[in-house]
Amino acid sequence: MQPTSSKPFSYETFPISGVVAYFSMEIAINPAMPTYSGGLGVLAGDTLRSMADLGVPLVAFSLIHRKGYFQQHLDASGVQSEDIQPWNPSDFCVEEKARVTVSVEGRTVTVRCWRYDLVGRYGHVVPIYLLDTDLEGNSGWDRGLTDHLYGGDTNYRLQQEIVLGMGGVRMVHALGYRVNVYHMNEGHAALLTLGLLERQLGGGPLGAATETDIEQVRKKCVFTTHTPVPAGHDRFYTELAIRILGSDRTSRLETLGCFRDGMLNMTLLALRFSRYANGVAMQHAKISREMFPEFPIDSITNGVHAPTWVSDTFQQMLDAHISSWRRDTLYLRSAIDLPEQDILAAHATNKEALLAEVARRTHQALNPKVLTLGFARRAATYKRATLLFTDPKRLLEIATKAGGLQILYAGKAHPQDEPGKALIQQVVAEAAKLSNDMLRIVYLENYDWDLGALMTAGVDVWVNTPRRPYEASGTSGMKAALNGVPSLSILDGWWIEGCVEGFTGWAIEDGASDAEEADSLYKKLETAVVPLYLDAPEKWAGLMRTTVAFNGSYFSTNRMARQYTRNAYYPVKLIERVTSWKKPPRAEGA
Ligand SMILES: *Cc1c(COP(=O)(O)O)cnc(C)c1O
Repeated sequence: MQPTSSKPFSYETFPISGVVAYFSMEIAINPAMPTYSGGLGVLAGDTLRSMADLGVPLVAFSLIHRKGYFQQHLDASGVQSEDIQPWNPSDFCVEEKARVTVSVEGRTVTVRCWRYDLVGRYGHVVPIYLLDTDLEGNSGWDRGLTDHLYGGDTNYRLQQEIVLGMGGVRMVHALGYRVNVYHMNEGHAALLTLGLLERQLGGGPLGAATETDIEQVRKKCVFTTHTPVPAGHDRFYTELAIRILGSDRTSRLETLGCFRDGMLNMTLLALRFSRYANGVAMQHAKISREMFPEFPIDSITNGVHAPTWVSDTFQQMLDAHISSWRRDTLYLRSAIDLPEQDILAAHATNKEALLAEVARRTHQALNPKVLTLGFARRAATYKRATLLFTDPKRLLEIATKAGGLQILYAGKAHPQDEPGKALIQQVVAEAAKLSNDMLRIVYLENYDWDLGALMTAGVDVWVNTPRRPYEASGTSGMKAALNGVPSLSILDGWWIEGCVEGFTGWAIEDGASDAEEADSLYKKLETAVVPLYLDAPEKWAGLMRTTVAFNGSYFSTNRMARQYTRNAYYPVKLIERVTSWKKPPRAEGA
C-alpha cells in the first residue's frame, strides 16, 4: 500500500485499495442478536464499531449462530438451566446470493452468508458477514453446524472452524473483495490460513507447498491471541483432525509445526502463518512470549467502545463539558476538570436505573445511598467469585462499618462447566445465608450486554478477583471506568496497566494463597474504599473524575483500533515490536 497521498483525506481517497478481513467466532453486533457469549465477542463488536467510526476499510466474518449461546435461568438455589435463543437473521440482516462449499469430514457442505451493515459515527459502513450452513441440500447434521456458539464437543467445534476459516476465505473471494490483511481474532479462525494456502496452490495438494507459498500467506495474516494459559488454547486430537480435515492437510500441519503435545494447536497454526501477532495486554503478551518463545508477540491492550458503554445520562454530562470525546477518546483526559456535582448527579442516575432493574427482576428494594459493589463475569472457577466470602464475619463487620453494603453478582457458566455452575450455587447460598439488614447480596440472572451496561455504570465499585495470570485482559472494568466507576481488583490483565492506586481504584495485593488475597481485599475495603465512601462526596467525585481521565481516555477501542491499523495492518515499520515489558514498581498511595 501507499502510505502517502497529497490529496486531502476523505474516505474515498483513503490510500488503500483493499480491505482488512476480520474473523471472529463470536461478535456482539447488536443487543438483540445472540451471536456472542462474553468478553471475546463484545471485544470483537467494540473493535468493529470503532473501525467503522474511524472509517477503516474493513469487513468481518463470523457464524450466524441461529440458536445463540444460551439464555440462563437460575432456580431459588442457584441451579442453572439453559434455553436456546432462536432468532431470525432476516430481521437484522440481508441474505447474500453467493454460495461456497467446504469439505468437512469428506462431505461437501454448502455455505451462504447474511450481511449486517454496521454504520459508524460518520456513515462509514463495516459489513459483517455471518456464515450459515442451514441450506437445503446439506444433511441435517451439516445444517446445524452454524447453530450453537461454543456448543457440542470438539468434533462439532472443529467442523464449525472449517466453516468459519475455510468457508470464510472462499466467501471473501465469492463476494469479490480484495483483501490486504486477514485478522484472526483468537485461534478459532486459524484454519483460514489453510484456506489461503490452498488458494495459493490453486487447489493442489498441501504437500506441495513451499516456504515461498507459506510466506505469501504469512504476508497477509495477523493474529490476536486471547488466552494466557496452555489449557485455554483451542486444540484437537490428531485422530479427530485426520477424520475431519483429512490426512493430507493434517500431516502437512504436523510438518509445519502446528502440533504440540500430540494435538493440533490452533494458536500455533495462527502464529506460524502470521507476520504479526499480539496479546491483549502488556502482561498477557509477555506470558504469550513465554508460552511461544519462537514467535515475537507484540502487545495491543484491549479497550471498549465508549459511546456503546457510557450511559445516556453520563454521555449528556460529558457532552456538556468535553466536545469530541466520541470521535477521539483521548479528549476524555480533560474529565479531570468535570464539576463534582455533575459527575455525582450523573452517577446517582445510573445507580437508580440499576437498582430499579434489580427491583423489577427480584422484587428486592436496594438502597441507593448504600455502597454497592458489582461483580459480573463468566462463572469460571479462576475468577474466584466467592473470594469475598472467605471470612463472612469480617465481611459483615465491613458492611456494618460502612452503614450497609450491597453486592450485585451476575454471570453465566458454560453449559458443560460443572465447577462453574457449582460456583453460582455457592454464591447464591452465601447470599441467602449472609444477607441481613447491613449486607445485601443479589445474584442477577442472564448476564448479557444490556445487564452488563447497567451494572458497570450503576455500581459504586467494580470488583474483580481472578487468579493470576488467567485474566488475559478483562474489559468490564474499562466500561466501569468510562462511567467513572473505580475498580478494586487483582493486578492481572488490563488492571496492571490501569491501576493508579487511589486515583482509578485499588489493587488487591498479590498473595501466596487465596486467603492472603482475600485478606488484602478486605483490608482495601476497610482502609480505603469504605472510609472514602463515608467521607465527603467531593472526594468520591474526585476519584470518579480521575478514573475517567486516566482510564476512560485510554482503555477504549478508539485508541485500540488505531493501534491495530498502524501497528498491525499497515505498519509504518514492521520490526520495532514490544519484545519485553516489566511493570515498574507502583508508588504506594501516591
Ligand atoms: C464486557 C462484557 C464481558 C467481558 O468482561 P470481563 O471483564 O472480561 O469479564 C463479558 N460479558 C458481557 C456480557 C460483557 O458485557
